[in-house]
Amino acid sequence: MATVFEKIISREIPADIVFENERLIAFHDIAPKGPIHLLIVTKKVIPSLQEMAPEDLPLLGEMTQLAQQLASQHGVADGYRLLTNIGPNAGQTVFHLHFHLIGGKTLGPMA
Ligand code: AMP
Repeated sequence: MATVFEKIISREIPADIVFENERLIAFHDIAPKGPIHLLIVTKKVIPSLQEMAPEDLPLLGEMTQLAQQLASQHGVADGYRLLTNIGPNAGQTVFHLHFHLIGGKTLGPMA
């Protein structure tokens, strides 16, 4: 079954898309945890970071570079959180690799 992010990539369901190229797509999270909450998603369906293969590793660099770019464009380059949940115990709910970029407020230390 297609993940919700595949449905966004195929335009089956709408999203507020802020970036797209052949390999990545980024859009606003539907349930933001801060004033800025973007998701940076691979178009290739990889369930999580744990399943990344060596040939997928260049995607990680591209995702972090895109995070820098989007953080600047959204005015949070001075402080933001970039994280990926891996597996149900970490609270992952969509099994399609993505980074959360969260900022726009004082996040403070991780609880
Ligand atoms: P995770 O729990 O780390 O797998 O993150 C999944 C994220 O996807 C959550 O923060 C959800 O709010 C977000 N999400 C789920 N469905 C959508 C959607 N249709 N559009 C945008 N974000 C979504």
